[in-house]
Amino acid sequence: MTSTTKAPPLYPKTHIIAASGVAALLSLALLVFPSREVEAKKTFLNLDMDNGSEQVQGLPNTAADSTDQQVESDSPFAQIEGSADTQNAQQSAEPEVAATPVEDPRNKTVTVGNGDTLSTVFSKVGLSANTVHDVINSSKEAKQLSRLNVGQELQFRLSEDGQLEGLHSKLSDLESVTLSKTDKGYDFKRELVKPDVRDAYAHGVINSSLFVSAKRAGLSHNLTMDLANIFGYDIDFAMDIREGDEFEVIYQDKVIGDKTVGTGNILSARFTNRGKTFTAVRYTDKQGNVSYYDADGNSMRKAFIRTPVDFARISSRFSNGRKHPILNKIRAHKGVDYAAPRGTPIKAAGDGKVILAGRKGGYGNTIVLQHGSRYRTLYAHMQGFAKGVRTGGSVKQGQIIGYIGTTGLSTGPHLHYEFQVNGTHVDPLSQKLPMSDPIARQEKQRFMQVSKPLMARMDQEKATMLALNKR
Ligand SMILES: [Zn+2]
Repeated sequence: MTSTTKAPPLYPKTHIIAASGVAALLSLALLVFPSREVEAKKTFLNLDMDNGSEQVQGLPNTAADSTDQQVESDSPFAQIEGSADTQNAQQSAEPEVAATPVEDPRNKTVTVGNGDTLSTVFSKVGLSANTVHDVINSSKEAKQLSRLNVGQELQFRLSEDGQLEGLHSKLSDLESVTLSKTDKGYDFKRELVKPDVRDAYAHGVINSSLFVSAKRAGLSHNLTMDLANIFGYDIDFAMDIREGDEFEVIYQDKVIGDKTVGTGNILSARFTNRGKTFTAVRYTDKQGNVSYYDADGNSMRKAFIRTPVDFARISSRFSNGRKHPILNKIRAHKGVDYAAPRGTPIKAAGDGKVILAGRKGGYGNTIVLQHGSRYRTLYAHMQGFAKGVRTGGSVKQGQIIGYIGTTGLSTGPHLHYEFQVNGTHVDPLSQKLPMSDPIARQEKQRFMQVSKPLMARMDQEKATMLALNKR
């Protein structure tokens, strides 16, 4: 069907620029497709509690947490937040403890060091192993106290005769625990601080990669992923990003006092890619479903994803007549070829029914998907099919259906991809992809009440920023 032996076209300089954040883009591309989105997102939330996580975790586990810190220190996104954390913990001591003079021998603070356990920490303030035992066994929750974090501070309140009266420790900006002596034993309390949520604005111009520019604009890793995800149906972040592309975001900032302790959702965004501007507005409908729409209420989600293979090079485009590399005859090429290493996953372009998963002459191992009554996609030369994908079954958009190979009439590993509308082959690259349902008519007015002020705010923020830059 196709060839990959042709010399690859020289990439324009911008391509190289766009390719420079490959590691970042790799993880990014994973998020463009819904089926993997949740999984990857969770990982990030667990790595960094500061990053807009609604969930507040229990007392950090020493072992797990040291791993977390390792990962965090590798991530340029986490460094600043991590160090700010420590500072903050020192500044804001619990009022009742801070109110008493530091010299008061009944108040003692221990910072957890490497290898410390609750026993070693307790012994540093003269408390016995028996006390540790009593504390841990006082309640189920109190057991969590034994999981310590390096750098965590434990503030002890001791009685005249050196017995434990109370203990307080801040676990994060959002969570602290308190233990108080009672007649019956110890009372364990966990306090969660609810941060204030404010809307924040960020703007950036891309000159190397989205990730670098987003970071410079002050966006967290998670927000950057969200941004890429929102526009993932319109912009191919692996191939389409150019120097000078621009983005604007209004997002939720979670603050305690003056300090940002996390971020929430992107409320609206604008992305200008190669001169074309895309808008996005987050909207929760009356049923509680959350989705992003463009400023006019059209769904961001498309019935088809743009490219069934990530990080592939287009080695041959759709044409009505070209010389076939093997047959050496002028032949139409009714699809697009994506060259990628053998074994690269291939994704279903949309939800659909598998009408073929098997061999098909010169196409080799082929999958044909039927999407509704109008659309059909075909994937040829596959090395093999993904588990569970078989004729008669169904697949979800973004689901891996098979792997790049060179079966059938093919000169190298690539995917031959065809797109049919009502039985006619069309160029998938020029095809205007059909969109999912727009905002329901009865919700349109309510949606516009959300959308208009957000768009106006971005206009205003940008104007202010440009005015400031001019000075
Ligand atoms: Zn082909």
